[in-house]
Amino acid sequence: MKNLKQSGWMTVLTKKSREGREVSFYLSGSGNPGMIDTLILGVFHGDEQEAAILASAFLDQFDGSVFPLKRVGLVPVVNPDGLAKNQRVNANGVDLNRNFPTRDWAELNPDTLYYSGPQAASEAETQLICQILETYPPQKIITLHTPYQVINFDGPARMLAEAMALANGYPVVADIGYATPGSFGTYAGKERNIPTITLELVEGEAFDDIALKQNLEALNNAIGFDCSHAD
Ligand SMILES: [Zn+2]
Repeated sequence: MKNLKQSGWMTVLTKKSREGREVSFYLSGSGNPGMIDTLILGVFHGDEQEAAILASAFLDQFDGSVFPLKRVGLVPVVNPDGLAKNQRVNANGVDLNRNFPTRDWAELNPDTLYYSGPQAASEAETQLICQILETYPPQKIITLHTPYQVINFDGPARMLAEAMALANGYPVVADIGYATPGSFGTYAGKERNIPTITLELVEGEAFDDIALKQNLEALNNAIGFDCSHAD
């Protein structure tokens, strides 16, 4: 990893995970300090290694000077304990993408990989993301997942999804095909009307250097996309 300051990132907020790992929120140096143009959130699910690869490459390679007026926020790894164990859930056994305080949140699926937690926003990682949304309201959000090879969108984000698809060729879908109470997409996209993308990467050998390059380009397309005139 390059020196963060040289790359134009500054650490703004950090929170400790259950096992003491840092969940860090970085901001690029330019743009309006109170607002984020694009918020990128990597690795809600610790077994989605390709999301970690993309987030880490983005952190290293991002060049803020390409977007002098755009402020970008990044949490490369939302679930560091899960990533360390190569498991979906965090160290408390909670699926962070079911733990957001949405209207449809309920305690569901205990003792499974989809456990929504004992309460809405019970987890430190979820609380950090909610705090970021309140303190630095983003104009659009990209979250990184695997393995479905689609660009799923919530809220007014179809045009944004299509701008990303120009780079990676993934299908754009409005519905992932199953119910996700407590998901981040419902929290940010459906309930707050923030354009929110769930970028589902391919897994394993299919996620090669070309796929990495195409998805870095998809993220750059998202940053460059102006949501104020879309949808
Ligand atoms: Zn996922």
